[in-house]
Amino acid sequence: MDFAFGPGDEHFRDEARAWLDTHLTGRFTRPTDTATTAAAATTAAATAAAQRAWERELGGGGWIGLGWDRTHGTYGNRPATLTQQVVWAEEYARAGAPGRLGHIGENLLAPTLLAHGDQAQRARFLPPIARGEELWCQGYSEPDAGSDLAGVRTRAVRDPGDGTYRVTGQKIWTSHAREADWCFVLARTEEGSQRHHGLSFLLVPMDQPGRVEVRPIRQLTGTAEFNEVFFDGALAHPDHLVGGPGRGWTVAMSLLAVERGVSTLVQQIGFAQELDRVIRQALETGAAREPVLRDQLIQQWTELKVMRWNALRTLSGAGNPPSGGPTPTPSASAPHLPAPPRPTAHDAGAPSVAKLLWGGWHRRLGELAVRVRGAAAALGPVRWTEDRPYELDAAQRLFLFSRADTIYGGSDEIQRNIIAERVLHLPKEDR
Ligand SMILES: Cc1cc2nc3c(=O)[nH]c(=O)nc-3n(C[C@H](O)[C@H](O)[C@H](O)COP(=O)(O)OP(=O)(O)OC[C@H]3O[C@@H](n4cnc5c(N)ncnc54)[C@H](O)[C@@H]3O)c2cc1C
Repeated sequence: MDFAFGPGDEHFRDEARAWLDTHLTGRFTRPTDTATTAAAATTAAATAAAQRAWERELGGGGWIGLGWDRTHGTYGNRPATLTQQVVWAEEYARAGAPGRLGHIGENLLAPTLLAHGDQAQRARFLPPIARGEELWCQGYSEPDAGSDLAGVRTRAVRDPGDGTYRVTGQKIWTSHAREADWCFVLARTEEGSQRHHGLSFLLVPMDQPGRVEVRPIRQLTGTAEFNEVFFDGALAHPDHLVGGPGRGWTVAMSLLAVERGVSTLVQQIGFAQELDRVIRQALETGAAREPVLRDQLIQQWTELKVMRWNALRTLSGAGNPPSGGPTPTPSASAPHLPAPPRPTAHDAGAPSVAKLLWGGWHRRLGELAVRVRGAAAALGPVRWTEDRPYELDAAQRLFLFSRADTIYGGSDEIQRNIIAERVLHLPKEDR
């Protein structure tokens, strides 16, 4: 694959850099490495408001939805080649711009609507995502349906009069549910249906007092990034069912393929920056002279290169979806499906291989970061007082939060099952 930056890309880089220099100021600058989660937690509302405002700022500049497939039209996003998307990610990371509150809408829902939505749904939902005005959360997991997503029990019953769906059930681990305006919900629309049959993919507004309740789940870190969401007869418009009634499983799996793999090349730019920071600290403190640590740093650096080549191979290979366009992936949770035409190993395994590579790599980076810090990582500045949560520095935050990387979007065990059963055609595990 030709992945050289051309003159057009360098012009794009200048534009991106100039925009970030002008707009990433004041309240949009993110906490420094030494800032603490406690400080952030005490101003959680202000932080969320600033993050929301930053999404609008990005949208106003046309920087949301760069990779969206333009086959069906444009939705306020600017066109950008893959290399330009990489350039934008590089500049974004270089500028130290904040983590994105809008990534679920931009990177997960939008490609799914482009692939499975109808024109009215695309016209209604994509422009506000591109403007940074509407935020989304993902309503998949339930207390008894995580890895085994086909166990979803949330129901959506259609009103025989006006066709409105009434959604009832509980979701869990819903990231950014408090900030989100909308949730895409996997729900059972066929009464008595089992497993992956009879599910639908519904777009549900979150602002429904008495019908949608969000309860934050506070973690050991003191922060609460994810939530429980209770739907009690929540209303969803009949036109806001994506992909057709009963086709929710296909749509949901297509979205998971994007979450697991497609965007990894861009994601690796942030990874490279984090690794650079750890290496710099190891050099400054002398930790890099310790032979075992030195080996681990080199190993980590090498594996990042391998991930990059793997991502490029996937992007240039057979079965690669257009930028931002998802490819349905097989799921370990759908053992009773009639056998689909056999996908090539390339098609079927790519998102799972990518997820295994980046999830494990990032978790090991977190471990390495605290090892480089040495004993200090276990001590300062962590502290606990009655009224304040833990305070953590950058290495500690990376260590704790990266534990989740091998779980969300499908755990490592599930990715291995998919590769074993659907790609290598090894015997299925007992279910
Ligand atoms: C940071 C974070 C953010 C998240 N955000 C969201 C979100 O926004 N929306 C959402 O819907 N969900 C979200 N999730 C939930 C996530 O998708 C689930 O945690 C994940 O699918 C695993 O499900 P579970 O937690 O129920 O664990 P379980 O499914 O109960 O699994 C427990 C353990 O058993 C293993 N296991 C399960 N089945 C098998 C098997 N067949 N073979 C071998 N091992 C198996 C798993 O790998 C895991 O180690 C988030 C999770 C995290 C950590």
